[in-house]
Amino acid sequence: MKLKFCSLSSGSSGNCQYIKTENATILVDAGMSGKKIQEEISNIGEDPKNIDAIFITHEHSDHILGAGVLSRRLNIPIYANEETWEAMTQYIGKIKPENIKVLYDSTQIGDLFIQSFDISHDAAHPVGYNIFYANKKLSLVTDTGCVNETIINSILDSDLLLIESNHDEDMVIIGPYPWHLKKRVLGEFGHMSNDMAGNLLSKVIKKGTEIVLLGHLSKENNFPQLAYKTVESILKENSIEVNPGVCLDLTYRDRASKVYEV
Ligand SMILES: [Zn+2]
Ligand SMILES: [Zn+2]
Repeated sequence: MKLKFCSLSSGSSGNCQYIKTENATILVDAGMSGKKIQEEISNIGEDPKNIDAIFITHEHSDHILGAGVLSRRLNIPIYANEETWEAMTQYIGKIKPENIKVLYDSTQIGDLFIQSFDISHDAAHPVGYNIFYANKKLSLVTDTGCVNETIINSILDSDLLLIESNHDEDMVIIGPYPWHLKKRVLGEFGHMSNDMAGNLLSKVIKKGTEIVLLGHLSKENNFPQLAYKTVESILKENSIEVNPGVCLDLTYRDRASKVYEV
């Protein structure tokens, strides 16, 4: 069986990525209401009761909003590193002790091996995730203000990549945000621009990378077509063929993406 991936939502109004294999189902982040996440899972023909674990990238509400509710309602363990647990405990409510899982680097859930790596964001200990299944690798990187060697080396050779393409730098500069927010978005601990996404992807896409998804697009400082075109042109400049070639696609802030299989 192939691995199924669906971005149920991606962006500042909620992040939740759904991953399913023959004997494991996980979510990475649960940043919409529990009800909305259950609905979105049912909409793609799956059963929310099958979720084996929720992995948290960092404690911002767009990544954890429904985590506590889902854990209580469906008895699901939540995995996060120690610093993230400390930072989010007051927001997610009471979790059964056996469902509080402190993640030290990596763990196995059924036939999935999940590994975290550090990213650069204004949270306690933010991470991206690599998910390994059979001979396939998925990499998820959103909410990072800079791209360093750790990130590049972590996500090399992935078959499916979800990479943040948050904003167009010029749109942030001339846009409506107050100065302190502009500084945050553009800073080292903020978010990745369309250019950064394109440049990162041109370094890590391998022969055989099947699917590249752009995520966490800003409503105020980006347009879906601008993110897509910017990344596409950087990839083409680097001799990477797109559609046909690598499948480059978008995820959405207000709806689920297609269901992809690798
Ligand atoms: Zn976020
Ligand atoms: Zn964040």
